[in-house]
Amino acid sequence: MARPFLADPHFVKKTREGRADEINTCIACNQACLDFIFSDRPVGCLVNPRAGRETEFRDTPTDTPKKVAVVGGGAAGMATAAEAARLGHDVTLFEAQDKLGGQLNLARAAPGKDEFDETLRYYAGQMQKHGVTQRLGQRAEASDLEGFDHVVIATGVTPRIPDLPGIDHPSVATYAEILSGDREAGDRVVVMGAGGIGHDVAEFLVTKPAETANSDVFCETWGVDPEFVSSGALAGDPLAPKPSRRKVVMLQRKTAKPGAGLGVSTGWILRNALRKHGVEAMGGVTYEHIDDAGLHIVADGNPTVIAADTIVLCTGQEPERALAKEVVARGVLVTMIGGAKEAAELDALRAIDEGVRLAQDL
Ligand SMILES: Cc1cc2nc3c(=O)[nH]c(=O)nc-3n(C[C@H](O)[C@H](O)[C@H](O)COP(=O)(O)OP(=O)(O)OC[C@H]3O[C@@H](n4cnc5c(N)ncnc54)[C@H](O)[C@@H]3O)c2cc1C
Ligand code: SF4
Repeated sequence: MARPFLADPHFVKKTREGRADEINTCIACNQACLDFIFSDRPVGCLVNPRAGRETEFRDTPTDTPKKVAVVGGGAAGMATAAEAARLGHDVTLFEAQDKLGGQLNLARAAPGKDEFDETLRYYAGQMQKHGVTQRLGQRAEASDLEGFDHVVIATGVTPRIPDLPGIDHPSVATYAEILSGDREAGDRVVVMGAGGIGHDVAEFLVTKPAETANSDVFCETWGVDPEFVSSGALAGDPLAPKPSRRKVVMLQRKTAKPGAGLGVSTGWILRNALRKHGVEAMGGVTYEHIDDAGLHIVADGNPTVIAADTIVLCTGQEPERALAKEVVARGVLVTMIGGAKEAAELDALRAIDEGVRLAQDL
């Protein structure tokens, strides 16, 4: 129960009072608890920015209630809206999609990351409880934002499209198209980019949903004896290859080991899962062009082509700031947070932290 108490120190109180649906659930990410401890930083929590930093936040309602518009219902926007309304501001949240979550809806498609559903449940519940007016399915325009005292731009990110000859070839898809189910990958896939999203996409492409959702299939896949009869509960070699129907090659331009930037306490699991499912990872490549033959690269000084039915772009993200520029030009008080503010090194940890802290300072 250590991590769940970081995520919500009021876990027991809420349960006792019959408010279990208001618990902020630990999503078992390890990102700000174990990973911070292992890298000599004070422990924190992705879903609860207060954890370990309680004295930096206040719980008293605001003396100066404001009319606040939050544009974007991703992690950053939801966290801002819920906290601002809790402190007594009159908050309206605009979300272009017909559902909340933004990139979390893509993250949750990766094997094991459907736990983000709990974060969505929590923030959606808090927004409802504290009376946030939600305009789902409405892409806010500058004219919608007149009459607010403060506009929070949490419009997030869009996938970066590299400038490469042949980038408009029909085999090319973005990570968002693949993870949302808008596009289905073929049997031979190249994943361009081996950061966190590249790894998640590769795992999504080679893992059967039952391997994470069904405990029998999980145990069989990882050589676990669920009866604990055999020594160490090992029922075989956990790393025995389990090839997928898809052949996936993951590439990156950096010469560093692919996956070097993954979480200290979880990265090794993801790297092993990909190896087990036969995913090949290569660093230090130069992308040349894309055509019917596949992706042309130079690796170790040698030009080569990797045949592919589908080439998935996991080549970074661009901040979505078009609306912010327009609103600022109208002289409205605007603050940008999350991916809209800075797309580099973006994660939900930063997005939620920035959202809650901004709401405290409104
Ligand atoms: C596959 C994948 C796995 C990930 N895994 C993790 C992980 O394990 N841990 C982690 O910390 N992070 C992870 N992330 C990153 C995390 O999901 C994002 O960093 C975070 O959700 C970004 O939040 P945001 O609110 O800044 O932006 P977004 O999530 O992009 O939200 C922006 C929202 O604004 C809306 N919008 C845009 N313009 C308008 C407008 N004019 N009017 C109304 N609405 C508008 C969009 O529709 C969108 O819903 C992952 C991401 C992906 C894609
Ligand atoms: S950082 Fe993640 S794993 Fe750690 S307590 Fe918070 S939600 Fe749980």
